[in-house]
Amino acid sequence: MAELWIGIEWDHQGLTPVARELLAEVGDSGHPGPYRVVAVGPAGAWPGDEAMAWPADWEAEAYWAVEANAAEAFFRELAITGAPTADGVIVAGTPEGQRRARWLAARMGRDLVPEAEAIRWRAGGWAVSTHLAGGRVRAEVTVPAGTVIGWRPMARGTAPKPGAHPARPVPWRRFEPRPAPPPAGRLLERTAASSRDRELEEAAVVVAGGRGLGGSAGFEPLFALAERLGGAVGATRVAVDRGWVAYARQIGSTGKTVSPRLYIACAISGAAQHVAGLRDVRHLVAINLDPTAPIMAMADLALVGEAEAVVRQAVAVMDARRAEGGTRDGAQV
Ligand SMILES: Cc1cc2nc3c(=O)[nH]c(=O)nc-3n(C[C@H](O)[C@H](O)[C@H](O)COP(=O)(O)OP(=O)(O)OC[C@H]3O[C@@H](n4cnc5c(N)ncnc54)[C@H](O)[C@@H]3O)c2cc1C
Repeated sequence: MAELWIGIEWDHQGLTPVARELLAEVGDSGHPGPYRVVAVGPAGAWPGDEAMAWPADWEAEAYWAVEANAAEAFFRELAITGAPTADGVIVAGTPEGQRRARWLAARMGRDLVPEAEAIRWRAGGWAVSTHLAGGRVRAEVTVPAGTVIGWRPMARGTAPKPGAHPARPVPWRRFEPRPAPPPAGRLLERTAASSRDRELEEAAVVVAGGRGLGGSAGFEPLFALAERLGGAVGATRVAVDRGWVAYARQIGSTGKTVSPRLYIACAISGAAQHVAGLRDVRHLVAINLDPTAPIMAMADLALVGEAEAVVRQAVAVMDARRAEGGTRDGAQV
């Protein structure tokens, strides 16, 4: 039996009511464990071990406490290492929890049941009660192991009263994001680089292209945009394998890992092996003809359109602004 991940939240008072409710539901779900719990809360506001006492009558194998500013790093690691082999990920459906559930499902290419009202483990899969047809129909759906499930707050009626189970302290482990490795060399000289020779790993802006660009000519507008934003150009393995750009530009599990403040994905589907190369991207913009492409669900800004045309237009707008005496376009990224 594989493990089950449970995502809950704490606040200044301790575990939230929906967290306690979800823990009770997991206890009734019939899943035999092992369970791994991750609780996210406000930065620097640990409410104390007493308030974080465990209200459930079952044991978890691991209890992670994650402060909000480290949550993105935690869930990114979870999506790459822990969750892909799990029997499921069940997340308390607060607005932030729902956002994390959608992100995890899109990133791992998994099914998502966003508003579960009862969760039962049956014959190696999940039987989930939820509302369909805009809330008009209540149904039980059967979904496979590995599904990401969002729990609808208050679906059990009321949260279990504190003390319903004898609360006990548990060994919460604080998650500390790994610090960036120290530079392996010494800086001798810094020279201005262009988008063609700027290091991908160091770029604050990465404009990346995929199969949908159709050839090396399709990458030219991406170089032009990267140049104006002070960034570098990356690519998917498909684009690299076809010789459209050099191998050194490949981002992903068998390519480079990048951590830009802005990542612009042009005609990229968002395959797991590609997004494995994205770490701590602050803003993700995706341009794709297909609004259902996985990368669109991960994006902060998803533009449905022909990537090359959209990028050319962006470059033209920037050039026009600059000609009018505007600021350098990349300065505020
Ligand atoms: C062991 C292994 C390791 C791998 N390692 C990597 C890796 O390190 N990096 C990596 O990237 N991949 C890697 N892959 C490949 C990965 O699985 C995907 O096949 C690849 O990332 C898909 O690239 P893509 O997004 O360019 O192409 P596709 O998945 O084909 O997506 C193309 C997208 O472009 C859109 N599109 C088409 N035309 C246009 C247009 N004109 N304008 C806008 N949108 C358009 C389509 O809607 C589609 O979403 C690996 C695979 C394996 C098996």
